[in-house]
Amino acid sequence: MADACCVLANAPGGPSWFVVERGTPGFGHAKPEDKHGIRLSNTAALLLDEVRVDADRLLGGVEGQGLLQAQEVFGYTRLMVAAFGLGAGWEALRRAIEYSKMRVQAGAPLAEKQGYTHKLIAPHAVRLEAARAYTELTAERIDAGEGSLNTEGAIAKYLATEAGNQAADAAIQALGGYGYTREFVVEKIKRDVRITTIYEGTSEIMEMTIGRDRWQLHLKTRGEGYHSQAASWRRCTPPTRRSARRRRRWACTPPRSCWSVPGSAV
Ligand SMILES: Cc1cc2nc3c(=O)[nH]c(=O)nc-3n(C[C@H](O)[C@H](O)[C@H](O)COP(=O)(O)OP(=O)(O)OC[C@H]3O[C@@H](n4cnc5c(N)ncnc54)[C@H](O)[C@@H]3O)c2cc1C
Repeated sequence: MADACCVLANAPGGPSWFVVERGTPGFGHAKPEDKHGIRLSNTAALLLDEVRVDADRLLGGVEGQGLLQAQEVFGYTRLMVAAFGLGAGWEALRRAIEYSKMRVQAGAPLAEKQGYTHKLIAPHAVRLEAARAYTELTAERIDAGEGSLNTEGAIAKYLATEAGNQAADAAIQALGGYGYTREFVVEKIKRDVRITTIYEGTSEIMEMTIGRDRWQLHLKTRGEGYHSQAASWRRCTPPTRRSARRRRRWACTPPRSCWSVPGSAV
């Protein structure tokens, strides 16, 4: 069990975060869960029975701020899980590609068969690349101080974890019978990556969050939100005569103005 946990509890002033240390009377845990994946990580429900903590354990010192405080970190924590999904997906794909170069079927390696590569490799590489690009862009924006970017974090998590999960599933298929055995590791990756579409907000909750926040943006800006977003991207289209060097730079880092959507809900 961790030395200290952050617990969100209903205080008289509203939901609030408290730091509760291991060994506090009434604070314990249930038996470790026997999980589908991430089996090296210990998971157990926390049990609280009449737990009392000192007032200085209230995070931020003001009651009722818990949900607002949680909202401040969601963009970041969702990106973290997006990265888990990406890592697992890429590793599964790498193993599938290795196998496809080695395994000869009907006179040629699997890597030369379009029915194989166009189903089990290419679509997953494309989805993972798109998810990586969006995750990195959102991370750069958070680092640049644009706020918590919760909706963008949700988009990145949804995109990357679903892509990672699908890539890992395809990797099992790509390794045939070996894919189904423990020795070739892709079945472990598939079990491990599965949690990323569940914790830190499920994919269904990400869909709900993204839909709700974009709808609010639409209402708040009286329909202008998407127009200004589209206009800002049009402004970013590099002129055809730009030098090759500037075009390359643009391709890596869009100007800041492209990133901000006026009135965007975070
Ligand atoms: C290994 C592991 C580690 C975890 N670590 C932590 C942790 O450190 N901290 C923590 O706080 N929690 C942790 N959790 C809990 C985890 O975040 C939740 O299990 C997860 O968010 C899903 O919530 P739930 O289990 O209550 O699912 P439920 O709310 O019961 O959902 C069940 C299903 O219904 C769907 N659903 C629910 N509501 C809606 C809706 N409105 N519309 C459409 N579909 C919906 C869900 O997407 C899901 O598919 C952990 C869980 C696991 C398994």
